[in-house]
Amino acid sequence: MRIVDIRETAVALNSSLRNAVFDFSEMTTSVVAVVTDVVREGKPVVGFAFNSTGRYACGAQMRERFIPRILRADPESLLNAAADNLDPEKILACMMQREKPGGHTERSVAIGTIEVACWDAAAKIAGLPLHALIAKIYNKNNKIYKVPCYVGGGWYAPGKGIPELLEEIRDRLAQGYCTMKIKVGGASIPEDLARVEAALKVVGDSAHLAVDANAGFDRTRALAYARALAPYRLRWFEEPTDPLDFALLAEVAAIYDAPIGTGENLFSTQDVRNLVTFGGLRADRDIIQTDVPQSYGIAQFARTLDMLREYGWSPQSVFPHGGNQMTLHIVGGFGLGGCEAYPGVFGMFAGFADDAHVEDGCLKLPDRPGIGFEAQNALYAEMKKLVGS
Ligand code: MG
Repeated sequence: MRIVDIRETAVALNSSLRNAVFDFSEMTTSVVAVVTDVVREGKPVVGFAFNSTGRYACGAQMRERFIPRILRADPESLLNAAADNLDPEKILACMMQREKPGGHTERSVAIGTIEVACWDAAAKIAGLPLHALIAKIYNKNNKIYKVPCYVGGGWYAPGKGIPELLEEIRDRLAQGYCTMKIKVGGASIPEDLARVEAALKVVGDSAHLAVDANAGFDRTRALAYARALAPYRLRWFEEPTDPLDFALLAEVAAIYDAPIGTGENLFSTQDVRNLVTFGGLRADRDIIQTDVPQSYGIAQFARTLDMLREYGWSPQSVFPHGGNQMTLHIVGGFGLGGCEAYPGVFGMFAGFADDAHVEDGCLKLPDRPGIGFEAQNALYAEMKKLVGS
């Protein structure tokens, strides 16, 4: 049993969206295929992944360092103890050879994307959906059948005012979602408060509305928004500060009593430990939003969760960034708080199986082996181009 090839390509997102900080007009993502010599149903098992949302394609690092390291390794050194499947922990260690500590994003997205594709292959080899394989290895085989799912939306777009924002929210509620997250910081404070108040009337309860500032505020604006938003007691206030400005985050937390969410732009276990040590966050209410494929992948994320437990944080406090099928499996497998969704946004890279439906704000976990990109027609067509079939 061995990995015979790893292929990657960059695909454009073609999105006209904008958050408080930047637009997505140039955004790309890396799609990866890990080809094995294992045959299932008459075909070689291929694991697929892509690099989640919001970080550019990273093929250069994959081609120059990580793919050659895996292909050069003794194939047996990448297998589990029973030698009956790939061992993504060993594949991660193989990719990390000769890598200097720190500087995580230069490699964490490339490594994490390849690692998650290896998990897709491993789950297919095991004949299990990825969430079941994760639960078996890391979560005492806990069986979870559905997970809470909220909508990451409410973007700024040309010509989009409050009526259009409310139409977006009503559409999502009609699809079965209960909780909505909207962008703040791309307008003035009075304008954003008007958006929040209008959205609250539609979702009906502050527990069903979160806001996301996308790390765009300086100190003055972060504290001003914290003061202005605090009375609404929203589900959470996301990324009020630069991702690494733990001192300012602690200042915000000191005046903002309702939940804060952050962490989608931290890419290592060490940075998340710094966040919970120095960021003034509270384990009883705040939430951590690691993007797993961008942060070295699933095996490293298991270590982050172990660290968080040591610091008094429950897996239920983790709502990973990235509304996609990879994240859905990760939320279910580890028993995390909930999953994000981007219905109708980010084209083929948004969302879940084409026939997935949301009920009472929850999504059923997929039951086909692997991640199940095969049930996302447009995305799978792009992935299949990599393997020429
Ligand atoms: Mg965010």
